[in-house]
Amino acid sequence: MIKSKLPHVSTTIFSVMSQLAQENNAINLAQGFPDFNTDSELITRLNYYSTQNYNQYAPMFGVEKLRILLSEKFTKLYQSDYDFQNEINITSGASQAIFNVISTLIHPNDEVIIFEPAYDLYQPTVELFGGKVVPIKLKHPEYSIDFEELKQKISAKTKLIVINNPNNPTGRILSEEDLKQFEKIISETNAYILADEVYEHITFDEKKHQSFAQLKSIKDRVFIVGSFGKLFHITGWKIGYVLAEKELMKEFRKCHQFNVFSTHTPSQYALADYMENAEHYLHLNQFFQEKRDFFIEGLQQTKFEILPCEGTYFLSANYAKLSDLNDVDFATKLTKEYKVATIPFSAFYQDKTDHNIIRFCFAKKNETLEQALEKLSKL
Ligand code: PMP
Ligand code: GLN
Repeated sequence: MIKSKLPHVSTTIFSVMSQLAQENNAINLAQGFPDFNTDSELITRLNYYSTQNYNQYAPMFGVEKLRILLSEKFTKLYQSDYDFQNEINITSGASQAIFNVISTLIHPNDEVIIFEPAYDLYQPTVELFGGKVVPIKLKHPEYSIDFEELKQKISAKTKLIVINNPNNPTGRILSEEDLKQFEKIISETNAYILADEVYEHITFDEKKHQSFAQLKSIKDRVFIVGSFGKLFHITGWKIGYVLAEKELMKEFRKCHQFNVFSTHTPSQYALADYMENAEHYLHLNQFFQEKRDFFIEGLQQTKFEILPCEGTYFLSANYAKLSDLNDVDFATKLTKEYKVATIPFSAFYQDKTDHNIIRFCFAKKNETLEQALEKLSKL
């Protein structure tokens, strides 16, 4: 019998709900992935590079042109310069980037602050490396950060603070003022920041994404993580990236080289060609805002109480007017009986806090959303 390193961990909620959706022939608005086609231009580039025999190991840091384009993007959008040689690395998805940042930083008994509800990858990874998670709950129901609590919970042992902005699952985004508060608090500590910004190009209502890359005074303690899966509707390619100042990146690469070494080669070349045209990602906001609005309009005809959605492709809703069940049972019932799969919010809390909220993914064809809304209208 193996002595489990993660005795309290079971299969991730995303696999559980996707499987339940499949078994029950339900529409999957649970796991976050688009159901529409990837742009054929990108697929053509991928075919080109794999047939032209770009099929051997990519450089450990990632394909150079892709790193140069990322460097240019950060200079242009956030006025923050990262040297493509020493400060940018391509990874096998944002997941591997996050895992690797945590493996780079965390020693046994280091404390890591995580805001809940939290994406489910952070906590177990911290624990794998002997770290201790210090959770801070976002203030319900607006899901804002309690900066006073943050100040209280930071200790000499705080090695890392994980921040996901725009936030999965709440759909909330941080303001410029929030970032200033973070900068002030963190500059008085020795903590590092892991800024999971995979939804950076999905913010709504003209609100601008505030990247931690902009915080000059603490830049030497910040890791920024992104995902091409979210950017170009290719979650199955599993390509992401990390940006961090030279000294941090040096240590990151020591772990990365023995983790995956390098990332899928033809995809990186294809992405580099595709990314040359910034139009391919700068209109993502508008594209998803239309879907958000379409879905909200339909959901308003039901008894769900919709929570604000400022970013990401997730919309949350309170179902208390529809059922007394706990959120896991409600999401299960919705999948089995009404044929729409969602994610119960309690899965994003260590202590399984349940406010009767479920998360819908609206990165779907309008016809899929329409079918789901029709089913939900029967509730
Ligand atoms: N962080 C967040 C907040 C996510 O929602 C996801 C899921 N896409 C990831 C990281 C992982 O991204 P990837 O699929 O590129 O590994
Ligand atoms: N990020 C996706 C979500 O929040 C899921 C990714 C996964 O299944 N690991 O739904």
